[in-house]
Amino acid sequence: MLQLTAQVRDIKALIAQMTLEEKASMCSGSDTWHTRGIERLGIPSVMVTDGPHGLRKQRASADHLGLFDSVPATCFPSAAGVASSWNRELIRRMGEALGRECQAEEVAVLLGPGANIKRSPLCGRNFEYFSEDPYLSGEMAAHHILGVQSQGVGSSLKHFAANNQEHRRMTSDSIVDERTLREIYLASFEGAVKKAQPWTVMCAYNKVNGEFASENKELLTDILKEEWGHEGFVVSDWGAVNERAKGLAAGLELEMPASHGEGQQQIVEAVRGGELDEAKLDEAVERLLNIVFRAVEERRPDTVVDPEEHHRLAREIARESMVLLKNEDDILPLAKGGKIAVIGAMAKEPRYQGSGSSQIRPTRLEDISEELAKSAGDTATLLYAKGYELNAEEPKEELMAEAIQLAKASDVAVLLAGLPSRYESEGFDRKHLRMPANQAALIEAIGKEQPNLVVVLSNGAPIEMPWLDSAKGVLEAYLGGQALGGAIADLLFGDANPSGRLAETFPVQLSDNPSYLFFPGEGDKVEYREGIFVGYRYYDKKNIKPLFPFGHGLSYTDFAYSELAVDKETMMDNETMHISVKVTNTGQRAGMEVVQLYVRDKESTVIRPDKELKGFDKVKLEPGESKVVTFELDKRSFAYYDEQLREWIVETGEFELLIGRSSQDILLSETVTVQSTTARRMVYHRNSTLSEISQSPSGQKFVNQLIANLPFSAGLADEHAAMLRAFMEHMPLRGLLSFSGGKFTEAGLQAILTQLNAQDQEGQER
Ligand code: BGC
Repeated sequence: MLQLTAQVRDIKALIAQMTLEEKASMCSGSDTWHTRGIERLGIPSVMVTDGPHGLRKQRASADHLGLFDSVPATCFPSAAGVASSWNRELIRRMGEALGRECQAEEVAVLLGPGANIKRSPLCGRNFEYFSEDPYLSGEMAAHHILGVQSQGVGSSLKHFAANNQEHRRMTSDSIVDERTLREIYLASFEGAVKKAQPWTVMCAYNKVNGEFASENKELLTDILKEEWGHEGFVVSDWGAVNERAKGLAAGLELEMPASHGEGQQQIVEAVRGGELDEAKLDEAVERLLNIVFRAVEERRPDTVVDPEEHHRLAREIARESMVLLKNEDDILPLAKGGKIAVIGAMAKEPRYQGSGSSQIRPTRLEDISEELAKSAGDTATLLYAKGYELNAEEPKEELMAEAIQLAKASDVAVLLAGLPSRYESEGFDRKHLRMPANQAALIEAIGKEQPNLVVVLSNGAPIEMPWLDSAKGVLEAYLGGQALGGAIADLLFGDANPSGRLAETFPVQLSDNPSYLFFPGEGDKVEYREGIFVGYRYYDKKNIKPLFPFGHGLSYTDFAYSELAVDKETMMDNETMHISVKVTNTGQRAGMEVVQLYVRDKESTVIRPDKELKGFDKVKLEPGESKVVTFELDKRSFAYYDEQLREWIVETGEFELLIGRSSQDILLSETVTVQSTTARRMVYHRNSTLSEISQSPSGQKFVNQLIANLPFSAGLADEHAAMLRAFMEHMPLRGLLSFSGGKFTEAGLQAILTQLNAQDQEGQER
């Protein structure tokens, strides 16, 4: 645990010297990017700034919306891509590099990463989020934070919570049932908070179940601070404050950007009016000052960044972030040499980062066609055709004809395509999953003339691919950052082996997506009616074949899995279980494999997904080499969130451990038993059903007797007795009053209830 409170005594003394106005003033920024300092008390002001995949430090004159004028910084791949690396160590190194760039620019807190779940592929900001799966998302977010914070710079985990669309983002109300919130939307934040203790958490713009996230005490205080133990402070998203004093009472310490005295005044009035306890304000200031002083203590003014080194790191990360979706006839890797047609406006004007607050000014930007030329070998001839206009929708005949001709005259065509930035951005959602018509038409037209077609996609989120049969190879490059060109070249020519795996499902069509009917809601209200069935949890359970499943990604080598072993076949849910599996590179090239562990509850009284990701690891293997990968599972790996008990519960029984290459490619499995340690006292009542009562041995005895004594039970053939039993299974106890021919009376019912409840109290565990 981080020592965030090292200065706690001095800080308390400092707060004691502050006037009410001074304390209240600390709870809003001094401008767009700085916390407020108080000179007479030696309280410094520190800078906080965007964003998750690169530093967006605006020049002094710019305001929040001055998106394009920031100091040069390394543009790493955005989160959608980095998540596809499934590499904790890699994103941690990215975090370290970001932290160094912050130190060099005197930035105290970097605003990111974003851990919101990809509920719908339409969300305009999905490029900035990691995954549809909370475990993967939480792990990637945690390691991003660990990296940044190892450099003495804070993170701001955002946007807490249930901020899964851009449409009406400042007023929309996410209506989510508690189990879904806990298992999906909060779990992603929970993992990151508990593992990495971000200095700050940024609350979202939207409402959650009727309450603005910025005023949501249950989220900001009860869950985040008290249950998860967050020690830092909560900052509002820029402009997310509705009523300042209410927000402070709920656990929102810092309002951003500056509200020019308004926030301060509201807090002062609330304290004076007796609506806000001053002690609450003191607590908020203490949390703020802990971080501010920590940032100052950890300042490393001599930090010098080597942009070339960070550029190399960006290329390494980009290589691991790209996913080889299709590789028919092993068209990839391409042979070095020969005639290669490079087609597509994006080869010269790459789409390498998303738009909005995370948009940065890169230190340099690789031209994809140049990078391909460098890697293609001395004997290769690369010719370029534009193929389509980036800013247009309709195909242009001359551009198409030129590209088709070039492709025909070449040995292979590499087509750079994807989504233009007008298609996806912070601030609005997509309306469909199509790529521009001119690009789709070009792919199909070239595929007809040149079967050796490889499509490289740059986009922040899934697209539909009705043209998929036209291309033998498809590389999903996501938004690959400033070094995307080199990374694409490394992968296409086999200087690197693809090792990315999808962190989200690519559906065949938008309407297959579970949120489709309810996204983006009506007016301000968006109901998450698909519940826990987000992403592969839905496709797997419904047996809907996606275009590419969660976890999918190809390699230029092959891996074999064997020797799945568990250290115990039965565990109590307060223990841990260790699992190991051997992975061998059986192909001819070195490569990295992502080993995925899913857990399936074989039988459950609650509705659960078919399987859920509970472990993953990435291993690098030389040809012929084997490694043993190990996982540790604990209670949470088997639990669901019980809304009645308001806690995580494991139902005693059998679970399958599934090892696979993707959620739809399971290779090995093992069954284990987990026993619950939660004593769940059943309270029986007149409407408890016979099946509920039968769950305890004494209850079962009682039900057997009861059914046997029914007037129509006598002399029944086996088949009819079984039918009667099935018929009675969900009959409430009091139903027997009507069907026992007067044998079962109200007094008898009460006596039985007293007896059953007394027995259960004696310590039955369920
Ligand atoms: C975005 C945040 C960002 C902040 C500061 C907001 O509009 O939602 O992600 O950190 O602006 O730029």
